[in-house]
Amino acid sequence: MPGLSKRTSEFTDSVIRRMTRISNKYGAVNLSQGFPDFDPPLPILNRLAEVTKEDFHQYSITWGAQNFREALAEKQSRLMGRSIDPNGEVVVTCGSTEAMMAAIMSVTDPGDKVIVFSPFYENYGADTILSGAEPIYVPLIPPAFGFDADVLEQAFRQHPKALILCNPSNPCGKVFTPEELKIIADLAEKYDTFVITDEVYEHIVYAPHKHTYFASLPGMWERTISCSSLSKTYSITGWRLGYVIASSDVIDRVKKVHDFLTVGAAAPLQEAAVTGLRFNDDYYRELQQKYTQKRDLFLDGLDRIGIQHTVPQGAYYILLDISEFGYSSDVVFCEKLAEYVGVGAVPGSSFFKEPENRYIRLHYAKKNETLENALNRLEDIRKKMPPAIY
Ligand code: GLN
Repeated sequence: MPGLSKRTSEFTDSVIRRMTRISNKYGAVNLSQGFPDFDPPLPILNRLAEVTKEDFHQYSITWGAQNFREALAEKQSRLMGRSIDPNGEVVVTCGSTEAMMAAIMSVTDPGDKVIVFSPFYENYGADTILSGAEPIYVPLIPPAFGFDADVLEQAFRQHPKALILCNPSNPCGKVFTPEELKIIADLAEKYDTFVITDEVYEHIVYAPHKHTYFASLPGMWERTISCSSLSKTYSITGWRLGYVIASSDVIDRVKKVHDFLTVGAAAPLQEAAVTGLRFNDDYYRELQQKYTQKRDLFLDGLDRIGIQHTVPQGAYYILLDISEFGYSSDVVFCEKLAEYVGVGAVPGSSFFKEPENRYIRLHYAKKNETLENALNRLEDIRKKMPPAIY
């Protein structure tokens, strides 16, 4: 038999998705892979039911159905403070996963360098391998997850083609401040670098923090490739609807890459999701309130149990410090946690480039009763976890 590709030989399966399988095996409350267990908004579901009987069963335009792009451009123009052209500046993709892949493939050649902040969402590593680019990791330093501007500039001195900016950040819950974004913008300009954003948590930000779209910073529109999705905003992670917004020069290329990668996102789902894109601002305010309440419920519970944790400024992930348990492997810790405590978590090491072993990631995009169930189980964590012989 011929050998399989060298390029993909280093791939491990996704730790996040593996932890969902392990949680299911032990009947654990699965707080590993970040997706809600509550329903999407009813108007979207009602529209989906109608759409099945309408004429949306064949391919949409490869870069997105016209009315989806129009609704999206209208919403994002309002938020990003510039008029976005639905025809020339938007591509609809199969989730932001494809959006990021198409963006990276559109701007890099094999051997090009890409700056990635660590900790990072695990797909970015695979994205760079698939596109042949080489990541340069820049640490976000716990516990505040700030970066050292000199270290960042050293990375820029290697003349990367792009920097990946996940804001609000998965897994550390950081919302980059305007000052931090300005440092990145100045360096991107000085070293002539693209900035590829992952802004899927743009609507999940906790007061007093505010989300700033990188593309809206002075002079940054031309060099920013904004990637996001509807998954988190409308609780439809399984619909795989994402998008890229950028200047028309970049989008021309992203359209072609996307066309050959996937042809297009599911037409009936795009049509149904237009209902969500046309929601007014109340919807986003309520979403924020709902997640703020969930965050507080979960953090209060963890404080009662007395486990050290991060306080997210955005997104819906918490890193718990598990050093008191003395495990040498956070992967084994998470397996034992699912088996003996009945809660699914993701080992922090899968997000860090640095040899970090003291965190596990939990998320709280769940019904309050699910969160309370998880907290009840976690209450006895010190009694239930087997001794650290691993
Ligand atoms: N973004 C989510 C997470 O980090 C889901 C990842 C996935 O499996 N696509 O858990």
